[in-house]
Amino acid sequence: LIQKGSGLQVVIGMGQSGLATANYLAKRSYSVAVTDGNAAPKLADQLNPSIEIRAFGEIDGELLLQAERIIISPGVALTTPAVAKAKQAGIAIVSDIQLFKEACSTPIVAITGSNAKSTVTTLLGLMAKDAGINVGVGGNIGVPALSLLEDEQLGENMELAVLELSSFQLETVTNLGAKVATVLNMSPDHLDRHGDMLGYHQAKHRIFQGAKSIVVNRDDALSRPLIADNTPRLSIGSNAPDLGEYGLITEGDGSLYLAKGTEKLIAADKLKVKGKHNLVNALAALALGELAGIDVESMLQTLQEFSGLPHRCQFVDNVAGIDYFNDSKGTNVGSTLAAILGLGSVYSSQSNGKTKLMLILGGEGKGQDFSELAPLINKYVSQVLLIGKDGPLIAEHLQQADLSDDVQLHHYQTLDQAMDKAQQLLTSSLSQVAAVLLSPACASLDQYSSYNERGEHFCQLVTDLKC
Ligand code: ADP
Repeated sequence: LIQKGSGLQVVIGMGQSGLATANYLAKRSYSVAVTDGNAAPKLADQLNPSIEIRAFGEIDGELLLQAERIIISPGVALTTPAVAKAKQAGIAIVSDIQLFKEACSTPIVAITGSNAKSTVTTLLGLMAKDAGINVGVGGNIGVPALSLLEDEQLGENMELAVLELSSFQLETVTNLGAKVATVLNMSPDHLDRHGDMLGYHQAKHRIFQGAKSIVVNRDDALSRPLIADNTPRLSIGSNAPDLGEYGLITEGDGSLYLAKGTEKLIAADKLKVKGKHNLVNALAALALGELAGIDVESMLQTLQEFSGLPHRCQFVDNVAGIDYFNDSKGTNVGSTLAAILGLGSVYSSQSNGKTKLMLILGGEGKGQDFSELAPLINKYVSQVLLIGKDGPLIAEHLQQADLSDDVQLHHYQTLDQAMDKAQQLLTSSLSQVAAVLLSPACASLDQYSSYNERGEHFCQLVTDLKC
């Protein structure tokens, strides 16, 4: 039996990051054990053969109590009884990000927020790469942070690490000491895990611990660190910027520019990504990049080539004069508000009478309050198609929030049915719809395995319309 104090490292969770963590530690001759609630985790056969203690089927409380340190995966809650007990017993519980920070001295750009993390992380990674920097991009975005250290091309020569971090990774990180850190924005999400907005906020703001510089969002007071200090900072926002800050300048003729102070950097219509929220995302990448020491001209070049990530307000096609957008990653109210505003404001000024959006909402609602959608729906949407488990609940919230009589609600079970009926609605001579937007404000798990699958299904249905 392993005695406490023998330096045992117990990894909880056998997803991508748990696997990378366990193998990382085993390779460095730590004594490692793994545990997972799943009886047969898919990735377990990729574990380093030297890891003999594999407790699957339930999170093994006894094993946890023997650990010197527990490395917890983001998918497992700290409130899980076996984990809470180990914590109470005084055993250190950290995330893989803590190990990454301790293992390497590469400067880190740390990015969190309720929405836009992946978009900004990807864009900044491309900007750094195009500027000739040996950059690693990882964290909550496909590649576990510790895998960057095993990457042969990056290896010891990694000059910059751009990390997307979730609130779950941050709640067990201490003194990250990032070169640049940001909370891009804050809107309610994952409150089922964090208890309330305060817990969620506290977790996210751990990203600022020990940061050398920070980027804050002027549009969102919750993105600002609570403690006033003199850490160098830049701000971003959708309004005209003060000297030295990033923002948007609108000219008298309505044309829009990304700007630093009074200097116009680039016209918004030169960017391939759509919606005002994406302009703010671009500003975030520029500000983070400036503080990370990336050349501005080079960043602007990359920005013009960036066409965004799939499933995030992604333009799919134009069929019979109607534009279709896949925002399947719009899995919370905050992201769907951004999509409605971003696209709605583009179409509302069209002169052909087609000025409105058709919005597809629904899925697994995660206990959110959907009434906040009503004001923007009243302004920019004429038809709402509701699908999935929480479609009826969303209708209830919208109606309680004074949905305008001009907005029609339609109920369907599935996306197939909704897209089928949409065609009848769109061909009506009274239709004002210019674009169909799938931005469900819900998780997909009631009907799909992931938001990817839901988005791909939507794109396929749009393609089928052409046949
Ligand atoms: P995350 O990694 O934080 O989930 P993504 O870049 O994957 O962020 O985008 C998630 C969703 O948020 C998408 O629906 C996207 O269109 C939307 N979104 C992108 N930028 C913003 C923003 N600045 N504010 C609100 N929502 C946004």
